[in-house]
Amino acid sequence: MKTLDQIAAELQSYDPQALSAPQVLDFLSRLVTPVREVLELPLFEALGRVLAADVISPFDVPPHDNSAMDGYAFDGRQLQADAPLVLQVMGTALAGKAWQGNNGPVKAGQCVKIMTGAIMPQGLDTVVPQEFVTLGQAGDREHITIAAALLRAGDNRRLRGEDLMQGKAALRKGELLTPARIGLAASLGLKTLTTWRPLRVAYFSTGDEILSLGEAPREGAVYDSNRYTVFGMLSRLGCQMMDMGVVRDDPALLEAAFTEAATQADAIITSGGVSVGEADYTKAMMKKLGDVAFWRIAMRPGRPMAVGRILATKSGHSPINSGTSSYTNNSNPDGAVLFGLPGNPVAVMVTFLAFVRPALLQMMGSTEAPPPLLKARSTETIRKKPGRTEYQRGWVSTAPDGALQVKTTGSQGSGVLRSMAEANGLMVLHHGQGNVAVGDEVDVLMFAGAL
Ligand code: AMP
Ligand code: MG
Repeated sequence: MKTLDQIAAELQSYDPQALSAPQVLDFLSRLVTPVREVLELPLFEALGRVLAADVISPFDVPPHDNSAMDGYAFDGRQLQADAPLVLQVMGTALAGKAWQGNNGPVKAGQCVKIMTGAIMPQGLDTVVPQEFVTLGQAGDREHITIAAALLRAGDNRRLRGEDLMQGKAALRKGELLTPARIGLAASLGLKTLTTWRPLRVAYFSTGDEILSLGEAPREGAVYDSNRYTVFGMLSRLGCQMMDMGVVRDDPALLEAAFTEAATQADAIITSGGVSVGEADYTKAMMKKLGDVAFWRIAMRPGRPMAVGRILATKSGHSPINSGTSSYTNNSNPDGAVLFGLPGNPVAVMVTFLAFVRPALLQMMGSTEAPPPLLKARSTETIRKKPGRTEYQRGWVSTAPDGALQVKTTGSQGSGVLRSMAEANGLMVLHHGQGNVAVGDEVDVLMFAGAL
């Protein structure tokens, strides 16, 4: 585990009061470490988990040479460029079992009718699709004619081991288990997969003006939406969540919440209380209980963020729920990674997507590259100052010419959740980028897959 000072020393330049979005990502990738414990999970429970070991194919897939088409299998050496080929049909090879002729192997001048997926009879390497042959009959003997220059030897045959070779990695450590990958594991006959254990993430909202659902509205107070957006985004990542509610601006309550979270979780996500000039105790408590930096990021929305580690033992508190909670046995003696997000609801979601999500994926053991940004044509002019990264809520659609286009969804204020709710992605206007004109291509981060 590195301290924040050690990480700062590794970086070319580090000014906590003026960080760019790429610098934040770089810093976080040095701060977090992957979980170590593994879980052997049945396939039905493995979706969204991360593989902790390569999956080695126990056999060749497919296990035999087989036909890719319904047609007739024959020895392709008989094909001639300038003459049709006539073959006598000796029987039918069905999918699922090896063809056994009564008169030994198929010889020159003979073929076998074959179904897709059926094992290629011994000595045969080529399949002519049934729609390409002319059928003929002589007595009770059926024969086919294949036109000249129609096929080459080996056509329409799938080779043994063509999908996967026995002993080779079919899936790799660090890969997220998607439906296709779980299907692939099933096709290898595997009942379980070795995965990294899920990440435990505690989250709470701070601020005396924040109401929990069910509380009566009062002047100047707002309902807590951040816990719900954070819950949703963590759910999509498959994290084990520990919802700690709204924590009042009271040193004892904040200390108890941070200590419990650090004892039981790998990561803590808070919202509110980290901006400059905050009067409340959140920042003071983060400082007291851990190694925490308070950043100003050149971004919009977002900007203030607290990052570091909260140590479980520093204050000597014991966990509130020890023994009764499923989050005990924190294996991380270094405490929990803290992501102290701003309070504004859209800033919470954007900082989560831009920074917290990649960091959590790294902690989950994922080694995959982040999803690529897409390019879409802006349908409007957007004012943008170089020197900060701006995330605009947008609706991406297909233009009449087939290209992607994007328009913003209403007010971009950092507290306006409605325009986030109406969006299907974020325009990412990069640090050095200036104004956007109508028709300019911009990068977009689609919510699909992330939200
Ligand atoms: P802060 O970062 O604490 O200064 O909060 C910035 C703004 O976000 C204020 O208007 C807060 O009322 C609002 N806010 C903070 N936390 C939440 C929350 N959990 N849900 C909704 N709005 C919030
Ligand atoms: Mg506040």
